[in-house]
Amino acid sequence: MLRSFRLGEADRVLHVYTADRGRVGAVAKGVRRTKSRFGARLEPLSHVELMLHQGSGELQTVTGADLRASHHETREDPYRLAVGLIGAEAMLRLFPEQEANERAFTALTRFLDRLDEIPARAPATPALDSLGLSFQLKLLWLSGYRPHLDSCVECGAIEGLVGYHPAAGGAVCRDCGPGSILLSAEGVRAIQTLVATPLADAGEAGLTGAGAREALAIVRASYEHQGGFRLRTLSA
Ligand SMILES: [Zn+2]
Repeated sequence: MLRSFRLGEADRVLHVYTADRGRVGAVAKGVRRTKSRFGARLEPLSHVELMLHQGSGELQTVTGADLRASHHETREDPYRLAVGLIGAEAMLRLFPEQEANERAFTALTRFLDRLDEIPARAPATPALDSLGLSFQLKLLWLSGYRPHLDSCVECGAIEGLVGYHPAAGGAVCRDCGPGSILLSAEGVRAIQTLVATPLADAGEAGLTGAGAREALAIVRASYEHQGGFRLRTLSA
């Protein structure tokens, strides 16, 4: 469950990412009444097994819900929650189709499982969290928006990369640059580590402050220039 909105007095519209159908919109009726059968299970970031009824409109109707993992450890800590909501918004924007994507679904469940266990780090900046950045880079990779950092996107040089060219989606060398985003060797290393590390270990990726900031700048640039959107949770 990635996001929900109030609908009328007692209902909620849910944006869900499912294993077998990808992104699905559903309405949960009466869910905001205290006596609702499954209201408490339909919290944002929870992992639920839903029974859905396909009505005549665009939205499915929830007819049953079984909790697989509540992820309340994530929801109850402000730092983890903020990291989780960034991940949820990235998922909604990068995978908007009603089409199954097993790797994206697996990445999402691993991200949420691991997020329950990371230290509560407030007042650290959630946008710079290594698990969150690793998840977003993996989603970019799966969406075909992988930042190209192995060589200069203009001339192919592999040495002397100094910047990032957002419109071209890759690094540029000293001769072709500088590009509008600074990219240091530390930043390249940080991104390569975040992409290569399994999500289960990404919380201990050991990024430097500069590495994490450059990774975030490139993730943002990829959304904006390759995806054509910005994440609300990253602009706060
Ligand atoms: Zn070049």
